[in-house]
Amino acid sequence: MPRKAKPTKHSTKSLDKKRKLATQDKGGGKKGKEARRGKTGGAKFTCYVCFKHIPDEKTMTIHFESKHSKLTLDMEKCKVNDTKKDQAAVRERIRETGPALSAGKKMTRREKKKAKDKKDAEAKQKREDEKAKKKKAKDEEKAKRKAAKKAKQNE
Ligand SMILES: [Zn+2]
Repeated sequence: MPRKAKPTKHSTKSLDKKRKLATQDKGGGKKGKEARRGKTGGAKFTCYVCFKHIPDEKTMTIHFESKHSKLTLDMEKCKVNDTKKDQAAVRERIRETGPALSAGKKMTRREKKKAKDKKDAEAKQKREDEKAKKKKAKDEEKAKRKAAKKAKQNE
């Protein structure tokens, strides 16, 4: 909520956004989907009859009742999938998704500065690139004009 005299520096909305960026595993688009959720989509079990991915025991019971009602469910036969995520990869993805800020109070000055420095460096590089591009275009034009002049002289 905005207050009368003090300007609001951290709104709940912006803090939530930061927290999300710093903690939520996303990014990688469609290709990243498998990496993010695992091959089974986070399902813990695989049905040993039809190889369907089933998230939990309860769902497995329901699945058996509806799909394989003639068979009796043996939970031990169901393949248990490894749904654990590669935490290093998760952190890497999070780092790639946006500003490298950790959530809330843990956001240290150093990290803030790092993010700012990186941004500044990128902006500088961009400016320099544009400058070089412009110069190149200019030089090319010059060369073209020179060549045209020469051709005229030769005629
Ligand atoms: Zn099945």
